[in-house]
Amino acid sequence: MTCKQCEVDVHEYLRGTLSAAARAEVERHAAECSACGDLLRRCQELTCKDFVEFLNDYLDGDLDGQRHSVFDQHLSDCPDCRAYVASYRRTMELSVTALRGELAVPEEIPERLLQAIHDSRKQR
Ligand SMILES: [Zn+2]
Ligand SMILES: [Zn+2]
Repeated sequence: MTCKQCEVDVHEYLRGTLSAAARAEVERHAAECSACGDLLRRCQELTCKDFVEFLNDYLDGDLDGQRHSVFDQHLSDCPDCRAYVASYRRTMELSVTALRGELAVPEEIPERLLQAIHDSRKQR
């Protein structure tokens, strides 16, 4: 088993979706390979479920230094959580932008609406 394969399988391993044979492979590789052994230990320390559960605290900087670095590490280990954080941030940004838009330009909305109504009447 290669380290690349092991990295992929570790996540399946922790989810419990690997076959017994594949689990044994991961365990054997992790025992022989210190990099993958560390990876497995880190992933057991902080699972994806924990990560998502405490994501708010992590992004708000509410975690203590030790735990924050465990989260940083998980993020660099785990493509699933990286994708999750990216989409989470995008969603947050969108909702902040939408909120700002509503607060900042209240005058503009009726005008645009009127214009839209006007245009749609012209088309008929
Ligand atoms: Zn390895
Ligand atoms: Zn993860």
